[in-house]
Amino acid sequence: MCEGELVTDSLINRTIGFRLGGVDDTRTAFTTPLGGKLYSYARRENPTVTECERALAATENCDTCLLTPSGMAAIDIALSIFNDSDDRRPWIFPTDAYAGTTQYAVEVLHRQRGTNVKFADPAGKSTTTENFLRAIEDESPALVFVEPISNPLLDVIDVPAVADAARRAGARVIVDNTIATPYLFHPLEVGADIVVHSATKFLAGHNNILAGVISTSDPDLRTRLLGHRSMIGSVLSPDDAARLKSQLATFSIRLARQNASALSIAEFIDGHPSVAKVRYAGLSKHPDHELARAMFDHRGFAAMISFDLARDAGGSSKFVDELSESTPHIGSMGDVTTSFLHIRACFGDDYEASTIRLSVGIEPVDQIINKLEEALRS
Ligand code: PLP
Repeated sequence: MCEGELVTDSLINRTIGFRLGGVDDTRTAFTTPLGGKLYSYARRENPTVTECERALAATENCDTCLLTPSGMAAIDIALSIFNDSDDRRPWIFPTDAYAGTTQYAVEVLHRQRGTNVKFADPAGKSTTTENFLRAIEDESPALVFVEPISNPLLDVIDVPAVADAARRAGARVIVDNTIATPYLFHPLEVGADIVVHSATKFLAGHNNILAGVISTSDPDLRTRLLGHRSMIGSVLSPDDAARLKSQLATFSIRLARQNASALSIAEFIDGHPSVAKVRYAGLSKHPDHELARAMFDHRGFAAMISFDLARDAGGSSKFVDELSESTPHIGSMGDVTTSFLHIRACFGDDYEASTIRLSVGIEPVDQIINKLEEALRS
């Protein structure tokens, strides 16, 4: 965690072209990755961005973090370095995953680049560890992409088991840890090659920065990731990096509270007469409860809950109108302010009209429950 970062530095270095010195220093500055000693040009590295990346690396327990202007940019870079037009082995993606990732896999990887994209369970809606393990065994993939807690249905995947199977099959593993967050889980410690985050969400936590982060402890991958980021220029601005670094100082405090409140709220709505089903691994009856307890080392179960209302489409629409009077209805998550999303309206008709995703903030938990109760009664 980054408690050591509580004293924030207000200086922002906005330099683009750094003074280069002599010919030898110039050559070194343009060829040494992540040296942090000789900066050359801001598309490669910038000291304010590097400082935030170091704070993130302490949070993620890894050697290197690279900031990007969005979570999708992080995903794009992490996947792009493995593009190989001579390798026809498939890349396996989760069935339930952030819709932007699924769309990227289909539109950019498959249609534009010809990557052999497969889904862990093409027929189903949710993803299970068993589906991943079967797909790895059947398909001999080159790459596996996993969300430890999927968005939006919050399936929990046994990442150590998937990473182990992938490694034995000779596949690379990329983990999108956005929902679990480094508060609960460090995928690099259990065999992932690369971790990506939408830092826009829990890492930033205030609905005011669009950012992504790529983490690795493999020096070869670090060089390739940094090289790719420099080539395409997908780097976060120093201003956003400085703001992200200050907001990161409260990360573990925010997440401790958000995780604890989410458990209380899940227990409250579970069994509520207006709720048909709650998806939250903290509930002991959830099929992945024991897996989540062990994988997240008893720290919590996430600050996101998804649930189905016991209502038809019209009734669910009324609930959305009612709850949005007191709680922001937004297409994001992870903020200190509790918010919610009607999943079908945002991600399409593959999802039920009654499914709601709740992002739990840091308000007093009774206050959040009272607002939910009021909307559920409507
Ligand atoms: N990964 C997950 C799990 C997400 O939920 C999102 C966005 O919601 C992204 C990646 C993409 O992040 P961004 O919106 O910062 O590009």
